[in-house]
Amino acid sequence: MGTIDGLPPLREVIRTHDLVAKRQLGQNFLLDLNLTAKIARSAGDLSGYDVLEVGPGPGGLTRGLLVEGARHVLAVEKDARCLPALAEVAAVYPGRLQVIQGDALELDLLAHLTPPIKVIANLPYNVGTELLIRWLTPKVWPPVWQSLTLMFQKEVAERIVAKPRTAHYGRLALLAQWRCDARIMMTLPPEAFTPAPKVHSAVVHLTALPAPRFPADAAVLQRVTAMAFNQRRKMLRSSLKGLMPGIDDVLVAAGIEPTARAEEIGLEGFCALARLVQPEG
Ligand code: SAM
Repeated sequence: MGTIDGLPPLREVIRTHDLVAKRQLGQNFLLDLNLTAKIARSAGDLSGYDVLEVGPGPGGLTRGLLVEGARHVLAVEKDARCLPALAEVAAVYPGRLQVIQGDALELDLLAHLTPPIKVIANLPYNVGTELLIRWLTPKVWPPVWQSLTLMFQKEVAERIVAKPRTAHYGRLALLAQWRCDARIMMTLPPEAFTPAPKVHSAVVHLTALPAPRFPADAAVLQRVTAMAFNQRRKMLRSSLKGLMPGIDDVLVAAGIEPTARAEEIGLEGFCALARLVQPEG
């Protein structure tokens, strides 16, 4: 059966290039091109955008991004075995797909692109959260990217969009929601992937806000939330005792009950608290 871009179906690509999935590279491939186009569409209009894709693998999502009109795609893949398959995709879209072989954690990828930029990826699970935190914590805000559309394990996706007083609420929710709108766009069962992972997955779409929702120093906010959620069941007067002297008074000044627990405090409260804490160094 033909495909929308005239390239072979992904099962055939995998067979031809002998791309047996490697667990240590987090390889769970999406082989349904309708699904990869749908994920690409969940990032909104791509025409006129440069797109960064981490971990293109055999190129299913990459093909979705190109079919959906991305101006330019930079795809970074650690596994050299995938390069011939990706070169075949590049040949069908002259000048629109650049593939770099390397480790996304070691490269300054966004510097290669021209704004406006969207990041769209079915991330390897082992590096997904690390990359997200880096993209959420640049020195200056707004960042160079306009949105992030990323596949995670469903549990991680729920941590990103969680609200106070829920089980998944914590540092990741605060970090993401402080400077972004974050939404789960779709959830996928294990069978959507080859090989099937053990858990469900979900696509999260994060749009960068022009400015953080509440003023705070990024490093201080990270320090305060790390301390608070490190002992999430404890009262804040106790979990934050080491933060500064007279923590009860500081909490009250920030409008927070010293006996409250971290999961009861929203973004506004944590930002108010961060504003009363001296930056380090
Ligand atoms: N995008 C493809 C898809 O949707 O079918 C593959 C997704 S698979 C979950 C993750 C991909 O990321 C694999 O191709 C893997 O080789 C690649 N990868 C793993 N670690 C990486 C890293 N540190 N930098 C770049 N790519 C990586």
